[in-house]
Amino acid sequence: GGAVRFEAVRFAYDPERQILRGIDISVPAGRTLAVVGPSGAGKSTLARLLFRFYDVTGGRLLVDGQDIAGVTQASLRHAIGIVPQDTVLFNDTIGYNIGYGREGASQAEIQAAAQGAAIHDFILSLPDGYETRVGERGLKLSGGEKQRVAIARTLLKNPPILILDEATSALDSRTEAEIQATLSAVSERRTTIVIAHRLSTIVDADEIVVLDGGRVAERGSHAALLEAD
Ligand code: ADP
Ligand code: ADP
Repeated sequence: GGAVRFEAVRFAYDPERQILRGIDISVPAGRTLAVVGPSGAGKSTLARLLFRFYDVTGGRLLVDGQDIAGVTQASLRHAIGIVPQDTVLFNDTIGYNIGYGREGASQAEIQAAAQGAAIHDFILSLPDGYETRVGERGLKLSGGEKQRVAIARTLLKNPPILILDEATSALDSRTEAEIQATLSAVSERRTTIVIAHRLSTIVDADEIVVLDGGRVAERGSHAALLEAD
């Protein structure tokens, strides 16, 4: 599962100002879509509509063929995991931060789930390894390490749909590249929507949509759009 479809989606936070002016996007289950465009284009708004933080003001949004207007926010949260740009960790250990949301889970259970969800690469790629660092305080981590923890936390829920909302754009380019390389492997078999400002930071995507002024300005394969850039 995990197919996502925007059908003529329109949205306005305020009736005086249209933010999305008819968006048609279809992401087959297991594929990766990148949404790029300038700040204010409406990229994060697409993610908020998927979570039903807001409801569309026109058109339809479907997950696995079902109009999400009839689906609760709670069940959408099981289906969709998001990694935001600015991760705020709890003032607690890395282990707690990764396991947050899995109430009562022991470290062993978290580790087992991490293996099952094929995310142990992420945790193990913390410098010095998970074992020695799981008890360390999350607030002491570098930006790149924090994002690894945030990604591990989201992947642990094993959501069929993964949204990366500028998840690596605040990092230096080397750390960004390292994390994206691991992410490509991890996101291979789940529907993934990558949100970014710049096309140049997209490593891999089946389709790229360029959003501008609330409309799809351009769309195409990764190779074709990079060539035109
Ligand atoms: P992007 O992710 O592409 O930077 P956003 O989806 O965050 O764009 O925002 C699109 C537009 O919607 C912007 O003009 C922004 O100011 C406006 N906007 C975002 N959130 C709200 C909100 N909660 N209330 C009113 N306007 C908003
Ligand atoms: P978590 O276990 O990470 O808290 P939840 O299922 O409770 O996950 O929440 C779903 C996700 O929604 C969270 O990861 C959170 O980062 C994200 N989120 C919260 N507010 C917003 C927002 N305004 N726009 C986009 N995503 C958001």
